[in-house]
Amino acid sequence: MAETTDVAIIGGGAAGCAVAYYLAQSGVKSTIIEREGIGNQASGYSAGGLNPLTGIGIPGPLGAFGWECFQLHMDLYGSLKDQTGIDYQQRTVAKIDLALEESDVPDLQAMVELFQGVDGFNARWLGPEEIAKLEPRITPNVLGGLYDYGNNAVDSHMLTQAFASAAEKMGATVRAGNVQNLEGSGGKIDRVILSDGEISCGQVVMAMGPWSRRAESWLGVYIPVDPLKGEIIRLENNSEPFKHDLAGGGGTIYPKLDGLNWCGTTEDWKGFDREPSPQVAHEIRERVVRLVPDLANAKIVKHTACLRPVTPDWLPVLGRAPGWENVYLATGAGKKGILLATGIGRSIADLMTTGETTLSIQGYSPDRFATQLD
Ligand SMILES: Cc1cc2nc3c(=O)[nH]c(=O)nc-3n(C[C@H](O)[C@H](O)[C@H](O)COP(=O)(O)OP(=O)(O)OC[C@H]3O[C@@H](n4cnc5c(N)ncnc54)[C@H](O)[C@@H]3O)c2cc1C
Repeated sequence: MAETTDVAIIGGGAAGCAVAYYLAQSGVKSTIIEREGIGNQASGYSAGGLNPLTGIGIPGPLGAFGWECFQLHMDLYGSLKDQTGIDYQQRTVAKIDLALEESDVPDLQAMVELFQGVDGFNARWLGPEEIAKLEPRITPNVLGGLYDYGNNAVDSHMLTQAFASAAEKMGATVRAGNVQNLEGSGGKIDRVILSDGEISCGQVVMAMGPWSRRAESWLGVYIPVDPLKGEIIRLENNSEPFKHDLAGGGGTIYPKLDGLNWCGTTEDWKGFDREPSPQVAHEIRERVVRLVPDLANAKIVKHTACLRPVTPDWLPVLGRAPGWENVYLATGAGKKGILLATGIGRSIADLMTTGETTLSIQGYSPDRFATQLD
């Protein structure tokens, strides 16, 4: 029998699964089509930070939306965990950004005010003695540091699984498959072509992450999303777990609830190369040892590499595809796709069901890239 679905969602990362979840909440059934397993790309191997007050575009064009997404996460955790039985371990984190050079100090001190007066957040400047008291394993060469409290972190693989699982409980389907093309006419797509069949559909959501450009030729629409490789090494902890996330000099150390220190993260334009590189592991280690010398001999338990979906202006691409009545783009979340997943899911579901959304996505329309391909 021919397969059919109301909404075909192509891509089972955080973006696609969140769209399926919020659509299901609005009573719309979808099929998530994923070729490599739910959350098995960047959405499964990210650092899982929900940091709404800092990063590219914040303060700036990502600020309001980032904050809305953070609030959605705060409201979601309890109910999504209860609905699915998947505890994706959302928690509030304390972080110290360490100044290792004199030139680091002014920028870090200036960041204190970003956190001031924001509900649930606080920050202050720490001198070397205070840092040594908080965490004696930090290098004695530190000049000071920015302490902040209020960001959250999740296990992003489990979060993505939870979105998919909750959507399934509300009537969505997860279908393994590799999408090869879309077919339709008169401004509407009505069939998704897979390597092992086809699915008739009422609407389509493109949530293909860094592979989104593949759909340019299917739709004749410019979708400038490129892959930015990121690697993380997970180091065994042979002593007390660290109580703070640590960063500085290009290195980061995130103590996770799995008992390991996740260290990274790197940024390399290497096309679709997803191979973990021993050279990069060595560089990450050098950076984190500058922060915590004790980590020099810690065993690498796992090393992962994956691809962030990045646009030319570092903003997501959310909304209806130019020239198509029933195709929506949900991609391009770059370095913030776990934070933004809630707002991506909610806003796309809103647009598809009511034609509008109260979330601040005005600057992220696919129309800003103008243009249909010839
Ligand atoms: C090292 C690293 C650390 C990060 N840390 C953070 C962080 O701390 N906080 C944060 O908010 N973000 C972080 N990110 C960014 C975040 O992981 C990404 O922005 C987010 O995962 C993107 O989600 P996505 O669903 O758009 O893409 P993906 O997770 O890549 O999902 C896209 C899916 O589409 C599928 N697909 C593609 N084409 C097809 C096709 N033709 N047929 C079927 N399936 C297809 C793929 O298999 C894939 O599963 C990090 C990223 C990296 C690499």
